[in-house]
Amino acid sequence: MIASMARVKAKTNKLNSMDRSEIMRRVRSKDTTPELVVRRLIFSFGYRYRLHRRDLPGKPDIVIPSRKKIIFVHGCFWHGHACKRGARIPKQNRKYWEQKITRNKELDKKHRAELKRMGWRVQIVWECEIRNLKKLENRMVKFLSDSNA
Ligand SMILES: [Zn+2]
Repeated sequence: MIASMARVKAKTNKLNSMDRSEIMRRVRSKDTTPELVVRRLIFSFGYRYRLHRRDLPGKPDIVIPSRKKIIFVHGCFWHGHACKRGARIPKQNRKYWEQKITRNKELDKKHRAELKRMGWRVQIVWECEIRNLKKLENRMVKFLSDSNA
């Protein structure tokens, strides 16, 4: 996450400062808080997890080895979610952002396929899902307890 943010930051030097602060605001709100919420949920269920395992494809956000399960917490903007927030691409440098997001989606798909081949079960939690905690909690409980999830 950090490495890709640095790359994005380097490439966005052309953007004016207003756009840049808007982007950094989004980065902060998307890449940290939702992941912490999901971590807290999983911790409250009593599962042990590991974070950002570099030895696995896509450096998954949350890995639960005892269940052989993986959770990616995706920002709707960076990973191109089909929701309102995901559709909000900056007007300036639009093409750049669209290509960037398309590339992210391709990589996400590739990583998921690799992980599945390795026997991991994978779920994505979207940033916008954090708004309905009860629903998210139910989904996580189901995913983590079901051996065929
Ligand atoms: Zn979304």
